[in-house]
Amino acid sequence: MSIDYQSLAVRGVQALSPYQPGKPIDELARELDLDPDSIIKLASNENPLGPSSKALAAVRETLNDLCRYPDGNGFELKQALSARYGIRPSQITLGNGSNDVLEVITRCFADQASEVVFSQYAFAVYPLVTQAIGATGVSVPARDYGHDLDAMAAAVTGRTRLVFVANPNNPTGTVHGAEAIERFLASIPEQVLVVLDEAYCEYLQGDGYVDGISLLERFPNLIVTRTFSKAWGLASLRVGYSISSPEIANVLNRVRQPFNVDSLALAAATAVLGDESYLQRSREVNARGMAQLESAFKELGLDYIPSAGNFIAVDVGEQAGQINQLLLEQGVIVRPVAGYGMPRHLRVSIGLPEENDRFIESLARALDTVSASEFGQGA
Ligand SMILES: *Cc1c(COP(=O)(O)O)cnc(C)c1O
Repeated sequence: MSIDYQSLAVRGVQALSPYQPGKPIDELARELDLDPDSIIKLASNENPLGPSSKALAAVRETLNDLCRYPDGNGFELKQALSARYGIRPSQITLGNGSNDVLEVITRCFADQASEVVFSQYAFAVYPLVTQAIGATGVSVPARDYGHDLDAMAAAVTGRTRLVFVANPNNPTGTVHGAEAIERFLASIPEQVLVVLDEAYCEYLQGDGYVDGISLLERFPNLIVTRTFSKAWGLASLRVGYSISSPEIANVLNRVRQPFNVDSLALAAATAVLGDESYLQRSREVNARGMAQLESAFKELGLDYIPSAGNFIAVDVGEQAGQINQLLLEQGVIVRPVAGYGMPRHLRVSIGLPEENDRFIESLARALDTVSASEFGQGA
């Protein structure tokens, strides 16, 4: 009798479904026999500007060192982050993307006896890493697609070790202001760690802007995570980090892999922190594109969830799956979010103005096609 090796996987892993990334351009090109250059991808909240020229120059300079291991302590990047954010290098834990840090945090502080609290519609990685280690995930119903912070605090029990808060959240784009976050943190017992995932914080502007770093002194159980994948435009290089007390960072640094950020990534991230104009352009392109999409959705009579990130979730109705397919056929990749329990929405990343236009035109065509076929069926 042959062995069923899947049944040998630990229990949490057996029932795990892998993270569903946005469809890569080359994959769609192969599937539908399209020219890759004709495809636009607005599916993974990537920076539409392309990488910063300073980051590219730093990568080129580092290429000759590929035969060497990277600096496992990321000295220069930690120096640059410390200078920018007024923190100490000992507070930083670097990761292979912030996904890596989120996983390391979970493995360090939760086990099979633990509960981990997160929100309905929150970033998919939280339930995934929780389940992988065999901890119990507690998904708290959202309010207006956003985190219900009071309900999340109320969901904390004696077994809760970790609470994940994405601010702004992906895929909904919802955000809580400083006051709400502070009130929430004050309501969480000190022995429960709170991860404030600020992957999109660089896009936040104006009143209510939350800077998790400024709260670390008052809340020693707080871990702030950030990434170079979004506003800093380095998604492919995989660099993220957490900022916490040095005690917590010390724990995380025991478990993370010693060389989890490669030398090209370290060099690029360090360089891009010195490219303020890139960040500025990222924000401007995003704000303009967001306004462009919002006004198009209004014109098309579509509801959307107001977003503080570099993406927006739009309600395209019950035929969202078919509309997504019609967009793909026009060479436009967006992100269906049925897997998040949002079967009527599509999440669209903000692109360059011409990419946004192309998406809007393709969406209008897809909506027409769907309503024509419904009409044809006498529905
Ligand atoms: C994109 C994203 C991340 C991080 O991605 P990395 O590329 O792994 O740094 C983390 N949290 C949220 C909510 C995100 O949307």
